[in-house]
Amino acid sequence: MIKPVRNLVVVLGDQLDAEASALDGFDANQDAVWMAEVAEESEHVWTSKPRIAVFLAAMRHFRDAQKKLGRRVNYVELDDAGNTQTLAGELARAVAELKPERLIMTEAGEWRVQEAMTAARAKKVTRPLEVREDRHFFQTRADFAAHAEGRKMLRMEFFYREVRRKHRVLLDKKGEPEGGEWNYDHDNRGAFKKGGPAAEKLKAPWLSQPDATTREVLAMVEKRFASHPGELKDFAWPVTPEAARATLADFIEHRLPNFGQFQDAMWTEEPWLFHSRISAAMNLKLLNPREVVAAAERAFREGHVHLASAEGFIRQILGWREYVRGIYWLKMPAYAGLNALGAKEKLPDFFWTGKCEMNCLKQSIGQTLEHGYAHHIQRLMVTGLYALLLGVEPQKVHGWYLAVYVDAVEWVELPNVLGMSQYGDGGIMASKPYAATGKYIDRMSNYCAGCRFDPAKSVGEEACPFTTLYWDFLLRHEPLLAKNQRMALQVKNIARLGESERAAIRVRAQEIQNNGGAPKVAGGLLGL
Ligand code: FAD
Ligand code: SF4
Repeated sequence: MIKPVRNLVVVLGDQLDAEASALDGFDANQDAVWMAEVAEESEHVWTSKPRIAVFLAAMRHFRDAQKKLGRRVNYVELDDAGNTQTLAGELARAVAELKPERLIMTEAGEWRVQEAMTAARAKKVTRPLEVREDRHFFQTRADFAAHAEGRKMLRMEFFYREVRRKHRVLLDKKGEPEGGEWNYDHDNRGAFKKGGPAAEKLKAPWLSQPDATTREVLAMVEKRFASHPGELKDFAWPVTPEAARATLADFIEHRLPNFGQFQDAMWTEEPWLFHSRISAAMNLKLLNPREVVAAAERAFREGHVHLASAEGFIRQILGWREYVRGIYWLKMPAYAGLNALGAKEKLPDFFWTGKCEMNCLKQSIGQTLEHGYAHHIQRLMVTGLYALLLGVEPQKVHGWYLAVYVDAVEWVELPNVLGMSQYGDGGIMASKPYAATGKYIDRMSNYCAGCRFDPAKSVGEEACPFTTLYWDFLLRHEPLLAKNQRMALQVKNIARLGESERAAIRVRAQEIQNNGGAPKVAGGLLGL
């Protein structure tokens, strides 16, 4: 006979924290953990193999760690007989079988999942559901709502200062910011010199080698999701708390000292550079952001890194990460449907293959498919910028980002994509569209040196598509952009364009749009 269950603790794929509030008061004699692998989570967007593998491998390791604590874990594997392949379906099955007195969970990270859980409980599960606050973050959703209350405009910088003061991060003895400034962003925009990152003594990151559990998942994903994008041959993501901590320690020791200066820089065939590779581990809750922030602050206090590096890194986690979550929960569900620029082009097919002639896109998409990773500037100023300039519908761009990155969970992905990179929210996340020509990419990388196009040219066979599309973007949206003070200089530059230049830009841009988003050159269609 199945032993009756008092509390059934629901643990979702991005809630793999042994200290989660849902597990408070867990009694191994009467309670059980419930987890389920369901195809719905990998197929509602066409999820890449690395992303599926990270989630499933981390979930299975969490299951095993809970079992080691002597806990009962009811775990449904993807290929188990009878798996209905939806969270709601599996929860209903578990409740029918185990007849728990009640369900307990930590609040879901994504709006869609929260709705699904609530709907499932109301329709099929008919047991009380206790939803507990998520302690993983520095700020609760209510804290953010209080911050936003009465403000005409939300800006990360003000939020960041408030949170730093509240949590006493990087403050001096008087409670003021270390070094006298809140933000060292002006020191965070360096590019590599000719010798590239090697000249800055870039050391390859420590990589977590797959163990037997992970290898089993990799084989299963390779087989079951064969037609999905992405590769698994070099899979080395941390999928346990121990591996996540080792990844963090290696970063603090070897790459944080240069992170600040080079966080915006890009380089051919160098996917990791001076970045930490911890976003997926944090988003799955294998790693606590407090631990990460404390480690970076300690490195500064012990003289291992400059203030600009420590502050630049801490700002990403204490500032941006918390801020985007706040925006997400404040604005959902309407946020997902916003399209302030009325963009309606489709996403170019080469986003799913990396096969195109534009070297920056080839590199950024190529490493994304290979590893499920690209750093912030590649996402914002290469792939995101191209989609923005081309006029791709933001929801299509959102679908791609959610599918391909190992760290993609909607609460962080959506505001970054739809808001910051596509300006789909009309300025909630960013005060102006991140629009730039190919010259920005040229300044921040060596991609253009290996490209057939010229970032300085906007028309003609050699014209860089970013540069053509940049001017076309400004021309298309001139009336709207003219109302934005921060776009004044760019709008002024359009006024300098003569009629014939405008017409030539329009023709070339139209050609790119008509050609599936890639430039047409003599001798064939490129990028398709
Ligand atoms: P590092 O560069 O080492 O930065 C350290 C940490 O700071 C990251 O691990 C991350 O947790 C945090 N961080 C940095 N920038 C941001 C940001 N803008 N928003 C939130 N957290 C931030 N991050 C995700 O975790 N998931 C996503 O799906 C995601 N989608 C993005 C889409 C676009 C268009 C853009 C512009 C950014 C996106 N980001 C996303 C933010 C950022 O690109 C990644 O967090 C970062 O590249 C992860 O690599 P890393 O761990 O090496 O980070
Ligand atoms: Fe990208 Fe243009 Fe530079 Fe080519 S020239 S790498 S398309 S920015």
